[in-house]
Amino acid sequence: MTDRIAAFREKTLKEGLDAFLVYSDVNRNYLSRFTGTSGAVLLTPKGRLFVTDSRYTLQAQRQVKHAKLHLQTLSLLVELAGLLKKSGAKRIGFEAGHMTVAQHQWLLKQLPGAKLLPTRGLVESLRLVKDSEEREAMRAAARITDRAIHHILSFIRPGVAERDLASEMEHFMRRQGAEGPSFETIVASGWRSALPHGVAGAKRVEKGDFIVIDFGCRLNGYCSDMTRTVCVGPPSALQKKVYGIVQRAQAAGLKAIKAGRTAGDVDAACRRLISKAGYGRRFGHGTGHGVGQEVHEDPRVGPKAPDVLKAGMAITVEPGIYLDGKFGVRIEDLTFVTETGHENLYRTTKDLIVV
Ligand code: ZN
Ligand code: ZN
Repeated sequence: MTDRIAAFREKTLKEGLDAFLVYSDVNRNYLSRFTGTSGAVLLTPKGRLFVTDSRYTLQAQRQVKHAKLHLQTLSLLVELAGLLKKSGAKRIGFEAGHMTVAQHQWLLKQLPGAKLLPTRGLVESLRLVKDSEEREAMRAAARITDRAIHHILSFIRPGVAERDLASEMEHFMRRQGAEGPSFETIVASGWRSALPHGVAGAKRVEKGDFIVIDFGCRLNGYCSDMTRTVCVGPPSALQKKVYGIVQRAQAAGLKAIKAGRTAGDVDAACRRLISKAGYGRRFGHGTGHGVGQEVHEDPRVGPKAPDVLKAGMAITVEPGIYLDGKFGVRIEDLTFVTETGHENLYRTTKDLIVV
């Protein structure tokens, strides 16, 4: 099992920090493998501690392997301030995106001899490339996702409400072992499919509707994210045409993935095809995003995104075309970047599914 705290320690030393405080949920749990909801990873000149309270003693003893367990007797921040003071730390890094102004001001008062230095994206930069353990967790989440889209097809018929489809999918994924959905399930039918973020509502499915189904689950702390667009009854000529454009754009995006290329290259491959077909202005969002413990992580896959892809990064490719008042189409896969291309985590067809 890789020692992520050691890798992070190296990063903080390179930044000239002799101490670091990680207490945002995802970053703390990534570094320590703790799955509870309170605690901190604390690096000091004297060593590395995992600080939590007595509710989590057993869990932390079992899960945290690469830091010494310190049980807090005071509130977390007070305990951390005391430990930092005792350690003699002078340059203390913290996650600028996760500390409130009040906490920051209070810490400054407690640590008059030290510098509190804000950092951005330090742990996140480690999270970009998924190790084999993380990739396995994501593949397992993806397998449930594949099964869920197949499962829901037999429920889709005119008259069924979007939110009944969403709840059936979420219930199915839990029965398959998922901890829950990775975000609020999108089931957007008919004119609502033109809303890129049409969370399932009371609308009932009608004959001729396109239904954009964008969903995922969380398993072992890792997310999946998939979109398929399904047609209720035979598609119209326009529906077929637009679907075909998105399908080809999505394939072009996948083909553009390779270690060494940029995230912007993947976006450009999709966008070029959709623009050439005359629908460039109907594709208003980015092509994709990173996925991991959070469903939206770095890197962003959008126009001119400069991030260089590395083997082991997890990114989605999800172009769409949205025709106001008519319908929308989006197709999304989740992939791992490889040295030679990509690994698609899904098996579900991308040919138009007609139910
Ligand atoms: Zn999605
Ligand atoms: Zn997505």
